[in-house]
Amino acid sequence: MINRRKFLAGAGASILAAASPISFSAFGAPTKKTSKSGRLNLSFFPYELQLRHAFNLARYSRTTTPDVQVQLEYDGIVGYGEASMPPYLGESVESVTAFLNSLDLSQFNDPFKIEDILTYVDNVAPNNRAAKASIDIALHDLLGKIMGQPWYKIWGYNPDKTPVTSFTIGIDTEEVVRRKVEEARPYKLIKVKMGLDKDQETINIIREMMPDVPICVDVNQGWTSKEHALEMCHWLNERNCLFVEQPFDKTMIDETAWLRERSPLPIIADEAFQRLPDIVRFKGVYDGINIKLMKSTGLYEAHKMVTLARALDMKVMIGCMTETSCAVTAAANLSPVVDYADLDGNLLIANDRFDGMTVENGKITLHDRPGLGIIPIAGK
Ligand code: MG
Repeated sequence: MINRRKFLAGAGASILAAASPISFSAFGAPTKKTSKSGRLNLSFFPYELQLRHAFNLARYSRTTTPDVQVQLEYDGIVGYGEASMPPYLGESVESVTAFLNSLDLSQFNDPFKIEDILTYVDNVAPNNRAAKASIDIALHDLLGKIMGQPWYKIWGYNPDKTPVTSFTIGIDTEEVVRRKVEEARPYKLIKVKMGLDKDQETINIIREMMPDVPICVDVNQGWTSKEHALEMCHWLNERNCLFVEQPFDKTMIDETAWLRERSPLPIIADEAFQRLPDIVRFKGVYDGINIKLMKSTGLYEAHKMVTLARALDMKVMIGCMTETSCAVTAAANLSPVVDYADLDGNLLIANDRFDGMTVENGKITLHDRPGLGIIPIAGK
């Protein structure tokens, strides 16, 4: 149960913290500060994510993901963020580093002016969505720590309502698929990557090993024929599949609308959109959207996307890239109000730097730590 008195004390203290020399430690305990007002100090470093298995999608394969880890410090309190850059999004360690080097966040002496800060960051240069997300995520972590509350509580979400998260099985040889299905046993939803010629074979292996667990399918733009796609949607519907993600190339709007009209399964957009204004044109084309912080430029806009999608009567999914528990836990704070979650990016890497949200009995489990709810793993 939420301790209302404690929450109000924390929220009130946040206002004080912004306006007075009293501040709060990373874990919510008040600490006396002698300096008057601080400045936002940004630091960052590249951190290559090592994937536990080669990641095979319809259009490419890889064993590492470039990533930049970010810290935003204010009055001795540190917020953590990150930019993860899977190749198809077009960002790199070099572009993120150049973008972050171009920022002057020391001009802001009040971290609660989140609208001013993030509008400034967004207007420095177009695109650079993962780089922008790294600042947004670190700022949210910092503000939550100053307020002494986790973000799901600040937004008023019920942590008991978190969904199950899917576990991803990529396109691979039968032997590897079987090994990954074993690994997926604790999960209550299996996400299957499709779009090559082994689609039905992969599903048949999973159904043989796990007859009852619901699956969802991510085609990653891999299907080209609308008739084949419709046939697959019917075939998958008979095999306890919940939805199909990004069946066609993102430019195939008419084909997607055609499929959506006839498919027994909801069609979810992923590669087809990045930012908030993109969603408006999806009414009648897709049934729902897969929000990822590295596309949305972070939590601030992702939170607005949930509201807009609901207003358009669309389903909402929260997803991730291969990321550390920093960005994955950031996204998990939004999960109590989504239909589906695909937050296994931290489980796919071998060198996580944070302890954050956990998956218990397949369900996303949020903890009571302030900010995003993460703590760095010592020595990483
Ligand atoms: Mg996807």
